[in-house]
Amino acid sequence: MNHETELARLSGTVYRNGAHVASTSSRRRAVIDPATGKQIGEFADVDPEEVDATVESANTAQRSWWALSALERAEALHEVAARVRKLRFDVAEILTRETGKPFKESADELMWTATAVDYYAELGRHNVGSVLGNSIAGQLHYTLKEPMGTVVVILPANYPILLFIWEAAAALAAGNSVIVKPSEWATLTTLKFMEVFDALPTGLVQCVTGGGTVGAQLVSHRDTHMVGFTGSVATGRAIARACADQFKPYLIEASGNDAFIVLPSAPVDVAAKAATFAAFFNCGQVCTSGERFYVHEDVYDEFVRLFIAETAKLRIGSGLDQVDIGPMEHGGERARVEKVLARAVEQGASIVQGGGRPQGLPDELADGFFFEPTILVNVEADMDVLQAEIFGPLAPVVKVSSLDEAIALTNGSDFGLGATVYTKDSEEIFRATNEIVSGMVWINAPILDNVAGPFGGRKMSGIGRQLGTEGLETFRHTKLVMVDPAASEHDFWWFPYSDAEAFPGAV
Ligand code: NAD
Repeated sequence: MNHETELARLSGTVYRNGAHVASTSSRRRAVIDPATGKQIGEFADVDPEEVDATVESANTAQRSWWALSALERAEALHEVAARVRKLRFDVAEILTRETGKPFKESADELMWTATAVDYYAELGRHNVGSVLGNSIAGQLHYTLKEPMGTVVVILPANYPILLFIWEAAAALAAGNSVIVKPSEWATLTTLKFMEVFDALPTGLVQCVTGGGTVGAQLVSHRDTHMVGFTGSVATGRAIARACADQFKPYLIEASGNDAFIVLPSAPVDVAAKAATFAAFFNCGQVCTSGERFYVHEDVYDEFVRLFIAETAKLRIGSGLDQVDIGPMEHGGERARVEKVLARAVEQGASIVQGGGRPQGLPDELADGFFFEPTILVNVEADMDVLQAEIFGPLAPVVKVSSLDEAIALTNGSDFGLGATVYTKDSEEIFRATNEIVSGMVWINAPILDNVAGPFGGRKMSGIGRQLGTEGLETFRHTKLVMVDPAASEHDFWWFPYSDAEAFPGAV
């Protein structure tokens, strides 16, 4: 694949009715390669009429999709998974050029995507309701699982394909059509990925491009029926409010501020390597990144020494080179993280590793949005750096004196996505898994997902679940059906009421 030709072909298109077509809109935004700072394409902020046309096609396609058998839908989804594997490296290269992440991470993202599609292909036909113990003899009482209709998926840029498919595969398996509004920083990747849906009915999966205004139009559109959102708290709130006007169901996957706790029974060298990955994987731009490191005083010095040593080994550069860390998604994000760091230092934190823009990169990367993986110590629990999500390559380390203190600090956050605990003590494992208030807890296993298990947060990290059986239910209605095959008279409670049951004062 010649990526330049491909990026030019995708620029300014939308994916509607099974094809990339030029947007009618003249409003265009530049697509910048974050490793070089150079423009590599553009995308359209689509016109409202294009959104209307896309929604209409989606509803037509959904009806024909739901008219198929469950087995036919499963087979078509397995074909999608096969296409994902086939197009894996082509999509991965565009993903790296557009978001900056190392190519290995992009290629992995595509593999995880294929796994999720295969999983939901089968789960979608596993059951479509259940038969209930009846409340009236001779009757059949059961539930039917039905699709919502057209599902809108609105996304950030950090895992633009994986996060899309976690929702889209479940939504499709449940019988819905899907319209995706990708992040402004991953639009061309998403447009390229649309080619994996060739085996599905035309119009079943479509992509409209643009910013928040386009997303808001899709959310409040009368003919869309459910919204799956991943992104910031502010946007999640706006979407939940817009959905409330129509009682439209929604899934909100918002920010995290995950704690990473290290206790004395843990192998400190392993914990330090794990912390390096949890803090700096995808340049710290992961909702479940380690954001607050609470380390027991007995192992604090040793942990910090090893954490610094591991971090110092990380190779920074273009994601298309042999590196561990690429640039941040865009210049605005790097400037925001620089401000968070400056404020932490102003409040008394000390930089012991990194702390700035890397020096000595090749000339062609001079305008890229790189930032060094950075470790902070002398961090106090009330500093601003710990209160909100960092979403970048900063790792503040706090010394604690007990598990109780670590759990109290962990739960003191407004967020509740995940938490990692390093320990080999079974009592500590039991307490941490029970007492931490979050959607997920990892014991010695940071940032892992399992498509068979639910993913999502509590408190300001969101509402609802994706993945697992829970993630399928998110995109289905449950209808109760009650059948009396004999059409008998229900005289046990219909009119006329017997005098014997009348109010005693009536006689
Ligand atoms: P963002 O909220 O700025 O944007 C996300 C998407 O919402 C974009 O596509 C944007 O165009 C769209 N949007 C903006 N305003 C809108 C509106 N009024 N109506 C409809 N759509 C609108 O988020 P971001 O900065 O791109 O993403 C980073 C955030 O995503 C981080 O906080 C991160 O933690 C979070 N995230 C969460 C998870 C999770 O599973 N919980 C996963 C990945 C990322």
